[in-house]
Amino acid sequence: MKFGKSLMAVVAALALAACSSPKEQFPVYGWEGINEETDMTTLQETFRFWKSQGLVGVCINCDKPDLVREASRIAHEEGLEYHAWIPCMVRGGLPHEWYAVNRLGQKADEHPAYVPYYTALDPHNPEVHRYFIDKMTEIAALPDVDYVQLDYIRYPDVILSRGLWDKYGLVMDEEYAPADYCYCDDCVAEFKALTGIDIREVEDPSKVKEWAQFRCDAVTALVNDIAKAVHEKGGKVSADVFPGPASYAEWMVRQQWDKWDIDMVFPMNYNDFYLEDAFWVGKITAEEVASVPAMPVISGLFICPDWQNKEKVIDPENSGLLPSEIAAAVKGARDAGAAGVCLFTPSRMAPEHWDALREALK
Ligand SMILES: [Zn+2]
Repeated sequence: MKFGKSLMAVVAALALAACSSPKEQFPVYGWEGINEETDMTTLQETFRFWKSQGLVGVCINCDKPDLVREASRIAHEEGLEYHAWIPCMVRGGLPHEWYAVNRLGQKADEHPAYVPYYTALDPHNPEVHRYFIDKMTEIAALPDVDYVQLDYIRYPDVILSRGLWDKYGLVMDEEYAPADYCYCDDCVAEFKALTGIDIREVEDPSKVKEWAQFRCDAVTALVNDIAKAVHEKGGKVSADVFPGPASYAEWMVRQQWDKWDIDMVFPMNYNDFYLEDAFWVGKITAEEVASVPAMPVISGLFICPDWQNKEKVIDPENSGLLPSEIAAAVKGARDAGAAGVCLFTPSRMAPEHWDALREALK
């Protein structure tokens, strides 16, 4: 009897260990895009593979309600949390009045900075608020969507990350006027009413702290309006943000995301964009966790697709973590208090990356 009981206890303990280890595993998410061409059967197989590699959730770039409905249903079938990843402030084809005006007086839909798709909307415009509230509440209401995930929820980079200077042939030791927004009549008038300063008359607006804060507050107000509407309908909100926020996000893209009323934050801790090594992920994650003590921080990792040729890569968009750097990044994020990591992207992961991730998660 005694033997039987203790054997049962051992079996029970083993079963418990088998059940509890996946739950205790450090959570991994992945960013990926889908479109009308995506085969949903293939997507389901892909989700199943990612789940087997340790992913607990997916962030899927798509705002077409029918596609989101289907992809999120499949994600749930595979036991994955679904974040509807939606780029916000760089949309094309919206009313001309909604676009931001740069310091040179140019509208972003006609003169985008850096790249043609940088058609920046004005976060201070109430119609832009209405547009995103409607869009996000519609997507959040879909039955298998766990979070709407705000991306490009910011102004354009008034200073680019150090790793991008060579790509664009720029030395950004000061704010870049063509990417400095928004100087539309409404923003200028409201700022003057608040502070008495006519920002168009100031020789160097980048020296006016209140003006930087006004723009940070405009993004925060937009996020919090969206979050309030989504929360009222029972949904949740996550957001993809620049690292920091104080170290980078605030002065690069006007994101004071520690003031946002959201439920989960995904800082894009892409070390190669900042000419930093994989150990930097832990350092910056520590700042992020301390900045939002009540919010889960998911540390975003940028994966190098052609990792065997990383030395030849000049563009940071094609750079990223080598398999040999995965452990430092994942361990750094976990030790710093992150609630998980997110891969940009699972499909950039080589078999060697997956092996390294499995090792790092042990
Ligand atoms: Zn404006």
